[in-house]
Amino acid sequence: MSYKTPFFDYLYLLLMKKTYFQMKTRRDFLKNSAILGASLSIPASLQCNNPIPQAGKGEATIISTWNHGLPANKAAWKIIQSGGKAIDAVEAGVRVVESDPKSTSVGYGGLPDRDGHVTLDACIMDETGNAGSVCFLQDIENPISVARKVMDDTPHVMLAGEGALQFALANGFTKKNLLTPESEKAWKEWTIKSEYKPIINVENHDTIGLLAMDNKGDLSGACTTSGLAYKMHGRVGDSPIIGAGLYVDNEVGAATATGMGELMMKTLGSFLVVELMRQGASAQQACEEAIMRIVKKLDYKNLQVGYLAIDKAGNVGAYAIQPGFNYAIMRGDKNELVDAKAYLK
Ligand code: ASP
Repeated sequence: MSYKTPFFDYLYLLLMKKTYFQMKTRRDFLKNSAILGASLSIPASLQCNNPIPQAGKGEATIISTWNHGLPANKAAWKIIQSGGKAIDAVEAGVRVVESDPKSTSVGYGGLPDRDGHVTLDACIMDETGNAGSVCFLQDIENPISVARKVMDDTPHVMLAGEGALQFALANGFTKKNLLTPESEKAWKEWTIKSEYKPIINVENHDTIGLLAMDNKGDLSGACTTSGLAYKMHGRVGDSPIIGAGLYVDNEVGAATATGMGELMMKTLGSFLVVELMRQGASAQQACEEAIMRIVKKLDYKNLQVGYLAIDKAGNVGAYAIQPGFNYAIMRGDKNELVDAKAYLK
């Protein structure tokens, strides 16, 4: 195997990842367990007694963070409109922003770390609960597509740094200098004072998290970023962390986050939003409660976090610590920006 995993481990992990998560019923589980046979014993604790129900009937919907959500939604909508799957739509949508040199916090043109390196984080999650992620990835314009490959073609969830780059290159991605003349200039100006101070709602233009419900009612999500501008070299934020920057559970709903990643990582915010919806909260109540969790426990005063969520019926929620967070929502032919409510006025 090209990923240097002993064959047996590879097979085991692959079966666990691709088969276990795709089992839709207990009968499937038992059938797949039998196929795995005596040589691989699956712990009873992994047995799935709570089958994923049939897809809901919610209207196809795409939501994504910030102004750059508008072009992202448009690209995602093309896939949905032609009968495509949510997972393909979310990837296509965020790729537009990754490739836009004017987007200074995502992909090509993203502001570098304090040493001048553009390092990217991204993750993707589909309706079966499958997930892929890359972090601290350099020189690749579309990290979301590398994350998708990790999800589809490896037994793992996350690849980091040099390993993620090698994997990308081995899979046909090409290297590109992600520093544009503009982002290099901004970084050089920053080095004069080298003050590290995260700015709330940076140019109203942050991480893109995009959630889609397709015509079948299936949910998927993608989240991609160059992270905080002028961060420490090696810093990884919430965006590639399944459960922090993004979470999808096709039984319940999906959530994504933007803002100061450390706060979402400490509260596993996107997972929290989805779990609150599972317990009966609306998408809006769940986003508000997840912000309150930060407000009650952490120092949030000069920091921004925004959550965006959709439930299985297509109801949307959004909430932030500070005013200024907005999102784009597309349904039918209408693609519009909406200002999210905030805890601080
Ligand atoms: N959440 C991202 C991070 O912490 C940045 C952002 O959304 O502004 O890396």
